[in-house]
Amino acid sequence: MKKILTALVLLFSLSCSTTPVSGNKAFLLTSQETENQQGEEAYKEILTKEKVITGTAQAKMVEEIGRRIAAVANQPDFKWEFKTLQSDEPNAFCLPGGKVAIYTGIFKYAQNEAGLATIMGHEIGHALARHGGQRMSQQMATNAALAGLAIVGLSGLDDTKKTVAMAALGAGATYGIILPFSRKHETEADEIGLVLMAKAGYDPAEAVNFWDRFSKAGGKAPPEFLSTHPNSENRREHLRSLQSKVQGDYQASAKLGLGRNL
Ligand SMILES: [Zn+2]
Repeated sequence: MKKILTALVLLFSLSCSTTPVSGNKAFLLTSQETENQQGEEAYKEILTKEKVITGTAQAKMVEEIGRRIAAVANQPDFKWEFKTLQSDEPNAFCLPGGKVAIYTGIFKYAQNEAGLATIMGHEIGHALARHGGQRMSQQMATNAALAGLAIVGLSGLDDTKKTVAMAALGAGATYGIILPFSRKHETEADEIGLVLMAKAGYDPAEAVNFWDRFSKAGGKAPPEFLSTHPNSENRREHLRSLQSKVQGDYQASAKLGLGRNL
């Protein structure tokens, strides 16, 4: 009984969290610290398996845009990294703790720095709102409920559960990264991403244009990023409706417009 009470107190104290920008309440059983640590480990593993591009103009742009977004993201505990990975897949992700990867296959859709800032802002938005941690928390709660066990935190998890947790965190389809987020999380990441790109100096109107361009990219099979980020008219309408809200941020920024072409 005492154990259960302790677990409930722990659950209560850890599970109440407010998402930045949107102000939504989030259900979290994991700590930011644990998520960051797992993000870092997963990132390391991914980088050993992928071809990391350095020194090219595009890789430098990824780094520069990333630094600009990081500067306005207000996450002192993140150890930011921005890597460019060689792949035809148009994809991108940001793991907890600020570990960002951009696949070269997405450049032709991004077209310019603002387009890339749209993608990076969105992915970083998922990390800021701790969507990976939320997904993992839901998984943990489900597991605990099924097993009838108290939740005692991640440190006590055995390897199998850790694997589940990692998958839930978004590390691991090629790596589980491409597990789709819920529509609510997508909407939230869009909003946070738009604020970030505007504050970082990129014209937020390009976010709508990027999704317009990307929607025409479907072909036979939708590109990876598109399959996990359905490009609905709702998404574009939402981004359009937020334009006036982020104009102040953009006007107060360095106003780089679209930036350079990729
Ligand atoms: Zn997303």
